[in-house]
Amino acid sequence: MISQQWVMCPVCDNKTRIKIRKDTELINFPLYCPKCRKESLINAKNQKVSIVKEPDAKTQSR
Ligand SMILES: [Zn+2]
Repeated sequence: MISQQWVMCPVCDNKTRIKIRKDTELINFPLYCPKCRKESLINAKNQKVSIVKEPDAKTQSR
């Protein structure tokens, strides 16, 4: 069996509803957290998740 793990929210550290496998690769994936309702862009490779920071991202006002 290929191991899977939950992706944790980088903002509040809670489990999201996204699972990644060992061979899952995510690039600029908008990870939505149901707990804090925030979306974070992440990359994932080899079950390591890193947060994507867009240097030229415009400030979003909602
Ligand atoms: Zn969160």
